[in-house]
Amino acid sequence: MPYPIDFSEYFDYEALTAHLKGLAAAYPTLATLASIGRSFQGRDIWALTLTNPATGPDTDKPAFYIDANIHAEEVATTSVALYTAWYLLENYGTDPEVTWLLDNTAFYILPRTNPDGAEISLKTPHHWCGNGRYKPGEEQTYGLVQRDVNGDGLIVQMRIEDPAGEWKVSQRDPRLMILRQPGDVADGPYYRLFREGVVVGEWDGSLNSLTFHLPRDGNLNRNFPAGWRPEFRQYGAGDFPLSEPESRAVAEFILTHRNIAGMQCYHTHGGVHLRPSLVAPDATLPRADLALYKRIGAMGTALTGYPVISVYEEFTAEPDKPRVGSLMQWSYDEMGIVTFSTELWNPELAAGIAEPAKYQLRARSEDDELALLRYNDEHLGGAGFVNWTPFDHPQLGKVEIGGWTHMYTFRNPPPASLAKTDKAREFLPTTLHTNCLFTLKHAAVAPLVRISAVRAERLADGLYKVSALVGNVGFLPTNMTEIAKAHGTAGTVKATLSGAEVVMGPTTQDLGHLAGRDDRVATWSPWMREWGQTGRVVEWLVRAEAGSEVTLTAGADRAGVHRQTVKLD
Ligand SMILES: [Zn+2]
Repeated sequence: MPYPIDFSEYFDYEALTAHLKGLAAAYPTLATLASIGRSFQGRDIWALTLTNPATGPDTDKPAFYIDANIHAEEVATTSVALYTAWYLLENYGTDPEVTWLLDNTAFYILPRTNPDGAEISLKTPHHWCGNGRYKPGEEQTYGLVQRDVNGDGLIVQMRIEDPAGEWKVSQRDPRLMILRQPGDVADGPYYRLFREGVVVGEWDGSLNSLTFHLPRDGNLNRNFPAGWRPEFRQYGAGDFPLSEPESRAVAEFILTHRNIAGMQCYHTHGGVHLRPSLVAPDATLPRADLALYKRIGAMGTALTGYPVISVYEEFTAEPDKPRVGSLMQWSYDEMGIVTFSTELWNPELAAGIAEPAKYQLRARSEDDELALLRYNDEHLGGAGFVNWTPFDHPQLGKVEIGGWTHMYTFRNPPPASLAKTDKAREFLPTTLHTNCLFTLKHAAVAPLVRISAVRAERLADGLYKVSALVGNVGFLPTNMTEIAKAHGTAGTVKATLSGAEVVMGPTTQDLGHLAGRDDRVATWSPWMREWGQTGRVVEWLVRAEAGSEVTLTAGADRAGVHRQTVKLD
């Protein structure tokens, strides 16, 4: 029975929970909903398991893992995860690709791993990243603290005239503040810009002694046990790896699902498919893994238009301080699971900027800022920018409050209620659909063990030779990546015979790893390349009564389990 969902607006915890329960109820065979733990404030962290149980339980199939909204403000990621679940369920039985995926693989979809933080972002004006472990603002114990000073429901900016200010008003649009150049001395007035807020703690009343610290709330995506470093080195890291209930629930889920063969951890924003490494140059990655990432990622670029980039090489502001303790560092660098962290949505592309700055890595030009203001005026009816308005600040005196809103301009595509043009109404649904399709393609590359050519040969009365070909019919090798092979995090292929007495050799045979069809891809020179075996013949010598049946079971951690039965005549 279809379960329609309106994806044109974002979902708070209650709406998300209702939709997840609605989907599970509408598709009771294909979908199972479970809570994998509780957030700090007691909300459920939901995980939806999707597969066709008639072709085997999820644990007997390679699985694709999707999580979203680990960062509070990134609510569009929840929408794409929920959309993907809905799309798979809605199209099972009619779309051949979806049907194949749910028959042969499983999906684990965690649409909101930080439900406390998301609720703060959806329902208060605070800029928030962490898991709501602190009440809004309390993480900043001194200096300027973000707060909705004028009570308009938004936290934007305050500008204060100051001869020593580093900002001035653009001659091309009075809303736009541009940086004062080093030699500018006579084209003032000049301004200081601050986050809208109040001063907490001791302060002598001078702007020069006013400090502003970035909020130091916990960042769940720095709390994973890979390269973890304490707070002084990595902001948001938490007290120790997996100290937070949300990251711990996610890690335990991943560790107890050894069949996870691919991952997508969604973020906003940037319009890029991020890949490893987070901490080292590409030259240090295994070449085969880098090639895999490029081939799989290219399918994403074809669908979404997002480039595939290395976090370390192209997305790190300070190469001497790479981000550590993230989920993707743990899942790839430690476990060798091919993981992408897609940063959905690029507002600069939406504004028609030809060469967008990569997410906050450089200042935008005046032309680019003006293009963004035009985007705001045309597509959002001006709702993304608050015009500068004088305000009597209780501590700072005369200020002007204004500037960009954040949540539905830069952080997330505009929901339908903010979008004022047909084009703007398309940004969100296009983001959901194209990214969903990429994950289906990524899910389909999993290694997949299959038994074929099963034979039973009678050698003497009650003595049989049973043989079969155990093969990997998937794209990836059964070890998935070189990292997983080196770290031993993907179990080898094992074949077991049951139902008769094995009289020679082991009942369970370890076949090691089997190559995938990617191993045979040598586009420029196929005759120059060697490739590994994608299958091996296994044999057992068994004693059994004529007419009895034996069962062959073959599988690997990340490549599924397959069974075949043969009659001994
Ligand atoms: Zn993020």
